[in-house]
Amino acid sequence: MSEAGLVIVISGPGGVGKSTVVNRLIEKYPELVLSRSWTTRDQRPGEADTAYNFVSTQEFEAHIEAGGFLEHTNFLGNYYGTPTPKVGQSEDLILEIEVDGARQVTDKVPGALLLFLQAPSVEEQTMRLTKRGDSPEKIEARLAKSAEEITAGAELGAQVIINSELEDTVNQLWQAIQDAKAQRS
Ligand code: 5GP
Repeated sequence: MSEAGLVIVISGPGGVGKSTVVNRLIEKYPELVLSRSWTTRDQRPGEADTAYNFVSTQEFEAHIEAGGFLEHTNFLGNYYGTPTPKVGQSEDLILEIEVDGARQVTDKVPGALLLFLQAPSVEEQTMRLTKRGDSPEKIEARLAKSAEEITAGAELGAQVIINSELEDTVNQLWQAIQDAKAQRS
């Protein structure tokens, strides 16, 4: 009988490079499965159609009512949520989500691995947020939110990884996943 897959939560404030890191991790280790979130936010120019399941507020709320989310939150005015994984999923599942969602997952999935990415500096984080085309107001709001998120991540006892260099960060994440799997068996 195959063992149930590990639920791996990769969290951290906006602008720490979570999605770049997660995309590289999945590319390098295709045995990992990335959960596709739902969101009500607008698709950014140039953003892949597959980045999210982009839905209306009505659709999102209907899915909440139907119990279709493992976790969901309202992040700076938009809904984001992880669809409930299929029962008996044997692959290791990656969730790339913010901290409120991470808290909900740790409550619901006792064996989940919680990894928290942080930017090497506020300057670096601001630069990353600017590069992806958000407005100055949005960048400001995300930086303010980020300070709260770092405190919340620490409270959750997440394993912190500083995202300085992409390949190095990906290697550290992979090592943490291997360690968690070894501990389980
Ligand atoms: P963005 O708008 O930059 O794509 O995402 C905003 C924040 O929402 C990021 O911190 C991202 O990791 C987080 N996020 C993406 N999908 C989900 C989700 O399904 N649930 C939660 N709780 N957060 C998510």
